[in-house]
Amino acid sequence: MDLTSFHRRSIDDREGFWAEQARLIHWHKPFGKVLDYSKPPFARWFVGGETNLCFNAIDRHLPTQADLPALIFVSTETGEERTYTFAQLHQEVMRMAAIMLEQGVGRGDRVLIYMPMIPEAAFAMYACARIGAIHSVVFGGFASHSLASRIDDASPKLIVSADGGSRAGKVVPYKPLLDEAIRLAAHKPAKVLLVDRKLAAMDLVSGRDLDYASQREKHRDAQVPVTWLESNEVSYTLYTSGTTGKPKGVQRDVGGYAVALAASMKYIFCGNPGETYFSSSDIGWVVGHSYIIYAPLIAGMATIVYEGTPLRPDAGILWKLVEQYKVTVMFSAPTAIRVLKKQDPAFLTKYDTSSLRALFLAGEPLDEPTARWISEGLGRPIIDNYWQTETGWPILTVAHGVEKTPTRFGSPGMPMYGYDVRLLHEGTGEEVGVNEKGVVAIAPPLPPGCMQTVWGDDERFVSTYFTSVPGKMVYSTFDWGIRDEDGYYFILGRTDDVINVAGHRLGTREIEESISSHSSVAECAVVGVADQLKGQVAMAFVVLKDPAQASTPETRMALEGEIMRTVDKQLGGVARPSRVHFVTLLPKTRSGKVVRRAIQALCERRDAGDLTTLEDPSALEQVRQAVGG
Ligand code: ATP
Ligand code: MG
Repeated sequence: MDLTSFHRRSIDDREGFWAEQARLIHWHKPFGKVLDYSKPPFARWFVGGETNLCFNAIDRHLPTQADLPALIFVSTETGEERTYTFAQLHQEVMRMAAIMLEQGVGRGDRVLIYMPMIPEAAFAMYACARIGAIHSVVFGGFASHSLASRIDDASPKLIVSADGGSRAGKVVPYKPLLDEAIRLAAHKPAKVLLVDRKLAAMDLVSGRDLDYASQREKHRDAQVPVTWLESNEVSYTLYTSGTTGKPKGVQRDVGGYAVALAASMKYIFCGNPGETYFSSSDIGWVVGHSYIIYAPLIAGMATIVYEGTPLRPDAGILWKLVEQYKVTVMFSAPTAIRVLKKQDPAFLTKYDTSSLRALFLAGEPLDEPTARWISEGLGRPIIDNYWQTETGWPILTVAHGVEKTPTRFGSPGMPMYGYDVRLLHEGTGEEVGVNEKGVVAIAPPLPPGCMQTVWGDDERFVSTYFTSVPGKMVYSTFDWGIRDEDGYYFILGRTDDVINVAGHRLGTREIEESISSHSSVAECAVVGVADQLKGQVAMAFVVLKDPAQASTPETRMALEGEIMRTVDKQLGGVARPSRVHFVTLLPKTRSGKVVRRAIQALCERRDAGDLTTLEDPSALEQVRQAVGG
């Protein structure tokens, strides 16, 4: 079938379409109604059906592939490398589940997971899913006050953590951060379960803190049956990345999520049982939830849990893992590829990556030059995919399990089945035509797998996402996009990031794309800065592949001129940045997204706002110095 008809059917016959997809997972009890949409915009999928995410990820495969790899742990930080078969993973998860049960954690209780990328983090997530507890993963190493606010929001009975993590060879002790966060939080968890990796000092608080190793020993032979959950019970809560402001607490269901992930493995990622999936993301992000923890295993694949960066021990490490574990499907982020772009391209061909069917990239716009660089360097297909924490799985991409639609550099592709995507005029809310810019919106109901609501705040769910077009209930992505005559979409940036230069509306992304086409540029960020004459002007911050190229005022000026002329030529004078500043680092969230709002604030001498999810604050310092703030 072609993708267009496949998509059409998913919208015209939602219930028939999804009832069919629901067969991809195991149901303990069949559902009654496929979709209950009696209270828009709240959608309830597979009503009355009973299932379990952990069962679908692990137990279901025991009869056929108990001794095949399920979880492969690689840490280039500590040098550890271990493989768990489905049978071994099953046992570890039951041990973890037994520990939780003994501490009084049950169905509907929250467990906050503040962990490095180690197998025990995955065990904890599966264990929660197994017993019906709701996990809330917070990126390991987050600052105490951000962690404290998440503790208060989730009010967990139990926190699972570790002595520390390691990043680029530097140990990050978690325990002091956690203790401080619990001190700051109004809610106090009854128990804290700690994995001692012997990386950092760890003083146990008596009566509260439990040592994982001894608890595990105690429950070595535990048998913990699966708790069957109604499809619409809550599986987890997770915060968005916080790129545009205060992060939002996304709540997700059980059955709809399992079906959506299973379907995405079939139609989009095309992974088969017995193969290996490698996502270089982190469990602190939605990609980690969907495409490290749940989807690969639901599809019967092994998943790689990787603690490390793309650069250590050298820039070939990701491809070395592909070769070593015969990875067939890989998921990474444009930011990781831009990091590699500053390294010797010979690393891309040093290892045999021929097992790789495709490399999927998501999280930020994948500019054409970067897409071309990695695609040509690696010689493997690159598939951009566009989605959000809110949706849990891709909105726009290509679905090679349906039809071999060609990909186009710079475009994440087309609307996926289940998503009724519209491009709306910002002012009127009317649909825009071909090659006209608009807000990317989705006509509800949202498909299975998407957020149910904002955790604990239905009102905020509606007012945040469904009220941006007056008089129309549509879900806004707050991204700005365009569709060409062949139906390919292009994301032009966040609606917040649209620049208005003398009446011309420009997406920052368009200008960034143009700047990136200059051969010296590794990555860049463009923001709109208030200007008395023109309303706004574009200002660019550029990281060079080789910083030495702009080490003197003369070379800097020459390069700035060259970059401006590149933009002039491609987009015209209105898009030309008023200044091009050279920095060695861009301010990013820990999930690798450029925080343009903070750059913009500094350029306009304003307060930079909520920076709790920032990776490295020194990047902002460079921006401040560049603009003389
Ligand atoms: P917050 O909502 O808290 O400000 P965030 O939007 O960065 O943070 P995520 O849910 O992690 O949080 O990111 C989703 C956003 O990332 C999308 O709305 C879009 O702006 C961007 N994005 C993701 N994938 C792509 C892609 N393939 N192309 C372009 N943009 C993308
Ligand atoms: Mg967002």
